[in-house]
Amino acid sequence: MPVALVNGRVLRESGFVEGLAVLIDGGRILDVVAADDPAAKAAIHHDLHGQLLLPGFIDTQVNGGGGILFNDDPSVESIRAIGRAHQRFGTTGFLPTLISDDLHVVENALNAVQAAIRAGVPGVLGIHIEGPFLNVERKGVHDATKLRELDETALKLLTSLQGGRTLITLAPEMTTPRIIRKLTDAGVIVSAGHSNATYAEIKAALDQGLRGFTHLFNAMSQLTGREPGVVGAALDDQDSWCGIILDGLHVDPVVLKIALRSKPHDRFMLVTDAMPSVGIDGDEFMLQGRRITVRDGKCLDETGTLAGSNLNMAAAVANAAQLLGIDLAQAVRMATEYPATFLGLEHEFGRIERGYRASLVLADDDMNVLETWIDGQPAQLTPTRPTTGAR
Ligand SMILES: [Zn+2]
Repeated sequence: MPVALVNGRVLRESGFVEGLAVLIDGGRILDVVAADDPAAKAAIHHDLHGQLLLPGFIDTQVNGGGGILFNDDPSVESIRAIGRAHQRFGTTGFLPTLISDDLHVVENALNAVQAAIRAGVPGVLGIHIEGPFLNVERKGVHDATKLRELDETALKLLTSLQGGRTLITLAPEMTTPRIIRKLTDAGVIVSAGHSNATYAEIKAALDQGLRGFTHLFNAMSQLTGREPGVVGAALDDQDSWCGIILDGLHVDPVVLKIALRSKPHDRFMLVTDAMPSVGIDGDEFMLQGRRITVRDGKCLDETGTLAGSNLNMAAAVANAAQLLGIDLAQAVRMATEYPATFLGLEHEFGRIERGYRASLVLADDDMNVLETWIDGQPAQLTPTRPTTGAR
C-alpha cells in the first residue's frame, strides 16, 4: 500500500510548495498530487509536520565516516557503515572514495563496491577513485609513494565496474588525451584534480570528455594573470561540473561567490570529502599511517595540510545558503539535482517527481535532518545538528 507524505514543504522546480502529497511505493515516487487528491486519501498518511521534504543528498566524494576510512578496509561492511554514518546527515546516495593507493587496493575497492551494489547496500551509487594518477606537485595529503602512471593494466581495472558509476579523479597532464578518451568511451566519468595542468592541457582533456573538476581551487594550479591554470579552465568551460567543499575552510566564500558568477549555477555540486571523523565524536584518526587531528572543524596532518574534511552534506547545504547567500532551494539543488546530473542519474535521482527513486530527506529550516528514506525505506533519526565547518 502506498504511503502519502503529507503536510510538508516539498522542493519542486518552482521552490518549496505546500499542500502536496508525495506518494511512495515500491522504492519509487508514485506521484506528487494535491493533498486532497483521492489517491492521497487512500494511502497511509505520514505527517511531515510542516518541515522541508527534499530529494536525498548525493555526495560524490566520501572517504569515510562513522570511524571508518574506505582505504583501510574496502569491504561491503565498510561501505554500509560509511553510508549509515552519512545518512544521519541526509545523504541517500554516495560514491565511496578511495584516495591514492596501490593498484591491488583499487581492485579490492572496485570489488567491494560491485558486491555492495549487488547486495543492495543502501545508497551506494558507484565508486570514486581519487588517484593514484595525480601530480606529486599538487598531491595535498595523498601519499607521494603511491602515485603512478595510468597504464593499460590500470585502464582495464578502472573500466571494470558493472552496474554503478565510476568516477576517476586524475591529473590530465600525467596521462594522455588518448587514455582520457578511452576512459570516457568506456563510460567512466573523468574529473581533473590534484593537477598542475595548464589551461591548454585541460582544454585538450575537455575535448576528450573530461567532465568535472575535483574540489575546485584545492590542490590544483590557480588562476593567474598569464596562465589560467586548472581553476581558470574550470571556470571558463561552461559545461563541466565543479565539486566544492563548502566547510568555510577549504575555500574562502568570497572566492566561491566569484566562481558561481562565472558559469551556470547548476554546474556546481557540494561534496563533503569526508573523513572517518564524520558521524562520531572522536578528534583524531589514522590516514595511511599518519595521525590526523580534527581541530576547529579542520582535519590536519602533522604538517598542517588539510586532510579531507569533517563536513557532512546537511552542513554543506546550510553553509551554501549562509556563506554564499543563495536561497535554500538552490543550495539544496547543489546537493541533489546537480550531482545527479553530473553522474548521469538525473532521470532517477535528485528531484521529487513521479517515477523518481523515493530517496528523500526531511529537514527543518536550519538543515537539521529529521528523517530520511532510501528507495522508500524510512530511517527515523535522532535529530542531529549539522555542527561542522563554519557553523
Ligand atoms: Zn583530494
